[in-house]
Amino acid sequence: NYQEIKKRLNEEPQLSANAVTVLRRRYLKKDEEGNVIESPMEMFQRVAINIAQAELLYNKDCDISKTAESFYNEMVSLRFLPNSPTLMNAGKELQQLSACFVLPVNDSLEEIFESVKHTALIHKSGGGTGFSFSRLRPKDDVVKTTKGVSSGPVSFMSVFDSATETIKQGGTRRGANMGILRVDHPDIMDFIYAKRDKSRLTNFNLSVGLTEEFMKAVDENREYDLINPKNNKVLKKLNAREVFNEMVTLAWEGGDPGIIFLDRINRDNPTPQVGEIESTNPCGEQPLLPYESCNLGSINVSRFVDNGNIMWEELQNTVKTATHFLDNVIDMNKYPIKQIEDMTKRNRKIGLGIMGWADMLAKLDIPYNSEEALKLAEDLMKFIRDKGREASSEIAKIRGNFPNFEGSIYPGLGFEYMRNATITTIAPTGTISIIGGSSSGVEPYFAIAFYRNVMDNDKLVEVCPTFREISKKEGFFSSELFEYIAEKGTVKESTVVPEKYKKIFVTAHEISPKWHVRMQSAFQKFTDNAVSKTVNFANEATPDDVREVYELAYKEGCKGITIYRDGSRTGQVLNVGTSK
Ligand code: ADP
Repeated sequence: NYQEIKKRLNEEPQLSANAVTVLRRRYLKKDEEGNVIESPMEMFQRVAINIAQAELLYNKDCDISKTAESFYNEMVSLRFLPNSPTLMNAGKELQQLSACFVLPVNDSLEEIFESVKHTALIHKSGGGTGFSFSRLRPKDDVVKTTKGVSSGPVSFMSVFDSATETIKQGGTRRGANMGILRVDHPDIMDFIYAKRDKSRLTNFNLSVGLTEEFMKAVDENREYDLINPKNNKVLKKLNAREVFNEMVTLAWEGGDPGIIFLDRINRDNPTPQVGEIESTNPCGEQPLLPYESCNLGSINVSRFVDNGNIMWEELQNTVKTATHFLDNVIDMNKYPIKQIEDMTKRNRKIGLGIMGWADMLAKLDIPYNSEEALKLAEDLMKFIRDKGREASSEIAKIRGNFPNFEGSIYPGLGFEYMRNATITTIAPTGTISIIGGSSSGVEPYFAIAFYRNVMDNDKLVEVCPTFREISKKEGFFSSELFEYIAEKGTVKESTVVPEKYKKIFVTAHEISPKWHVRMQSAFQKFTDNAVSKTVNFANEATPDDVREVYELAYKEGCKGITIYRDGSRTGQVLNVGTSK
């Protein structure tokens, strides 16, 4: 009977109006008529008690109240939030808790449509899916049974795209996909151009899977082989540098395709004995094996600054509880299909990351584009990775290592215990950062104040809470200033904001692309999985600027890169200033 526990979980969350709106729309329990029947506090109780119940699997007589309380406290204080599906579904009938899935796409109609079906089941429950289409035979290759010809990977991607489009109304959120094609697939040029027509593949992010061999060929400006995956025969050759330049140009035009460094991802594959990693989840931060899923959670690091100091000890406690929480999620999860359950439980990957990085820097008076910020990024992420590993080993001592531990990279690294094959991932935190009232992931501020359109064309000025707080404390707070910033999008030219704070409240577009990449790379150094990051370019940037940044990302050890040039897509979600 959990009523007693519930009574003790009674701290109220301090949520912004926006957070409450988001929660009411998608996260809180509703009755059959669609009326909200749960408060945000009750949501956190539901999730905490549900996830704590995993304890009973290891000790059926234990008292879960302490665990539930520790989970509740981390969430209600907004220090830690799990990914959206956990908040939405834990303790409800659906009970699907993961954000990230990768499904195999094999070269037969049966298997392709089996994958489409699995995709539908995953999207219905709020998860995102990634696929490599590299195993499909190229366009115009023969289909033995019919003597016809195959329509190729890009054409089959449209089937997944339509399925996503069709089920989006009924699901918990609009579905999202990642489509990957190896650069040595014969249809690579079709893939690179696939989203040039902006009405196509709208539910897909695309990334070209680059290999070391290809990067070498680019460097040496020579041809490389395109191989038919069906029979491993070389079908044709292309000049690597020309292909690279086309990728750059298309990304410059509209953001897609991004790139991922496949060999590098596989170098960090913690369980090479189980198979090769061929894809990531939709936003790129989570490489997974086929049929693997992963649940994410993010620590709001801005909550760990007190009077200009980082509260390392409190942070350590939160890392420990969060790791425990995410490991429990694996056991409480209801998986959409058996293969995913098996694969996931053999590796037990979790993805603990951070949000509120820009807020943390602002509270510490450190500009995002500074050497000091890069150094802190490394120190902070190393701390989280090390403490996360400690926590995972502690759990392993009691519950056992993840089943694929022998043969994984961990014994070779000197670890005797590890509960989870990966522990750290940096997610975009698109929605949970709104709930947590923080800047998203490790991104800089997009804007310090902006207009949000509300009903009847009313415009509401929304101000970054950290800016509001600091401007009040430092005495330059005023509603005129906020309107001015919303109009301009930045504080750069304000006559009211002190110089020091102009540097600290720097926005994404004022930060040069190279700084974006260096920040991504600083976090990547101490992240098991990958880092979600968008490198922003000004509208005037040239394809050459993009190419330089791609090369830098490769040199700096990033696992992939996504760029976005301002104004290059219509229907852009966030706009700075009113003139655009
Ligand atoms: P959240 O803030 O809602 O927890 P993130 O923005 O951090 O989510 O995204 C994390 C991952 O969740 C993505 O990489 C993707 O795998 C999945 N995801 C995000 N948005 C969607 C969506 N609309 N539909 C399906 N999956 C999604």
